[in-house]
Amino acid sequence: MLLKPDMRVDKITDITIEMLKSNNIKAVILDSDNTLIDLNKNPLDGIKEWINEMKKNGIKFCILSNSIKKKKVESVSKMLDIPYIFFSVKPTKYGFRKAKKILGIKENQNIAEIGDQLFTDVLGTNRMKMFSILTKPICEEKVKINNIKRKIEKKILEKVDR
Ligand SMILES: [Mg+2]
Repeated sequence: MLLKPDMRVDKITDITIEMLKSNNIKAVILDSDNTLIDLNKNPLDGIKEWINEMKKNGIKFCILSNSIKKKKVESVSKMLDIPYIFFSVKPTKYGFRKAKKILGIKENQNIAEIGDQLFTDVLGTNRMKMFSILTKPICEEKVKINNIKRKIEKKILEKVDR
């Protein structure tokens, strides 16, 4: 099931090194908007410390964002000292392949992606046969179209959970 996340958490900082290691994850691709930063560009509480702790444990990172705002993605990249790809057109394989090269990991199953959206993050990750981790969005979008999308996502998640 391409829309079924391999793991679900409330927020990225709930993920422990044991959770990654027990699933043979050596590197993590990170969504940015609503996963690392909220819609006002504020970083998630404790994200810097979480990233540093994971890095100490040998986990490699790359940011993969669909945002077309280069400066915004770049500032998150600088804050966390992680390479980035913007305008990545998830769920296509294009950006994931680029990220894999940056990470220098041979096997796709050793790479996880963490993001808040089914149709970009989870779908793209599962198509790559990488390990998909779905978080709840840091904050809900105000735009109507996104609310509709969220409702559809909720319905799908209820279905795949059965
Ligand atoms: Mg996102």
